[in-house]
Amino acid sequence: MTGPKPNNAVQRLFLSLLPARWGESLYRSSQDWKITCPSCSYSVSVWDAGGIRWGAKSRRKRTFGKCPSCGEKVWFGYEDWPDR
Ligand SMILES: [Zn+2]
Repeated sequence: MTGPKPNNAVQRLFLSLLPARWGESLYRSSQDWKITCPSCSYSVSVWDAGGIRWGAKSRRKRTFGKCPSCGEKVWFGYEDWPDR
């Protein structure tokens, strides 16, 4: 059983501000989403990518960034990650 571990200052801030179970919820929710590189199909959870996603309401379709796998600058697509 491991608790949420922040990857960066933003995540650390959220975890320190929120009550523990909200932080847990935020962490879980961010782990349930992945971003996928359209170039090489590399996938990583939103949390592990340093992002935050809480709930699916404000659905942002894509985010631009450099793929850590193939090094291409690409638009990552957000996807549900139900089969983990
Ligand atoms: Zn890639």
